[in-house]
Amino acid sequence: MAIGPEGPAETPHIAYPDEVHTVHAQAPAKINLALRVGGPRSDGFHPLQTVFCALDLWDAIVVKPAEGLSLTITGIELEVDDNNLALKAARALQSHTGTSRGADIAIHKGIPVAGGLAGGSADAAGTLVALNALWGLDLPREELHELAAELGSDVPFMLMGGLALGVSRGEDLHAIKPGAFQSWVLVLDDEGLSTPAVFRRYDELKPEPHAPADVDELMSALRSPSVTNLAGLLMNDLEEPAFTLRPDLKERFDRVAGTGVATVLSGSGPTIGVLCESVAAADSLAKQLTSEGLRAVRADGPAAGAHIVRSS
Ligand code: ATP
Repeated sequence: MAIGPEGPAETPHIAYPDEVHTVHAQAPAKINLALRVGGPRSDGFHPLQTVFCALDLWDAIVVKPAEGLSLTITGIELEVDDNNLALKAARALQSHTGTSRGADIAIHKGIPVAGGLAGGSADAAGTLVALNALWGLDLPREELHELAAELGSDVPFMLMGGLALGVSRGEDLHAIKPGAFQSWVLVLDDEGLSTPAVFRRYDELKPEPHAPADVDELMSALRSPSVTNLAGLLMNDLEEPAFTLRPDLKERFDRVAGTGVATVLSGSGPTIGVLCESVAAADSLAKQLTSEGLRAVRADGPAAGAHIVRSS
């Protein structure tokens, strides 16, 4: 509390929504249409020029009041520990606001883990939004964005959603007005790829200092009403290091390349995105690839960022 010449400042009134017992939120996956990487900065982070698109593949986050903090995860096998990004988000919100409130957090994963689809970051964003409501904190979006950026480079975009250019670590976001609806086929992998390992390999392959390439051409094509104008413009500098770590992934990439408008590895992989001309084309490609033994799902964008579905 601030203490001024007239004594303690008036305690701000916080209207706890005591009638709210459960908040249901959801958070999307993302794909990077472009991921251009520079050499590491002095703080160890790689400067980026990236274009994010949120996809309608959702993690569901349900929070209820409790004494302390707890987390359960269903829908996927994932061991929960203190490093889970949802718990980190809850603790960050507690220490930022000083609230002593707790919560039981339940997450049902619809986003594959360690797939380059930012599932952990989505959960952090969804938890921030859900607890902001459950605890009656009413923090504005800008303040949540700052907390999100401390939690991870992708977390601010998972709050924002839509289509955006991300620079710096990817947390400095500039919304892009989408010209066209995007229908994708995501080709999934049973085995995850570690993001730090892919960046380490990137540095080995490109040790000299360099700035990330720009994404200007892609940015203007994104204003076009047709996704076919994006052909040849989707680029990910992490493809080469990911492929050297996982040669089988390169084989799969080559196999699906050419089945749609454009093909790109999402983030540090191993999910491969095939951008399709239409929803119908994506549906039929997903069916075809599934019948050939691949794990392929359709996902559309741009989707909304982390948001509340309902409170009760
Ligand atoms: P990154 O954001 O590092 O690019 P990714 O998108 O490839 O990651 P995530 O699904 O976010 O993949 O998982 C990366 C790692 O984060 C996992 O190995 C997992 O141990 C850890 N993790 C922490 N919290 C979560 C969470 N809530 N859901 C999924 N993974 C989480």
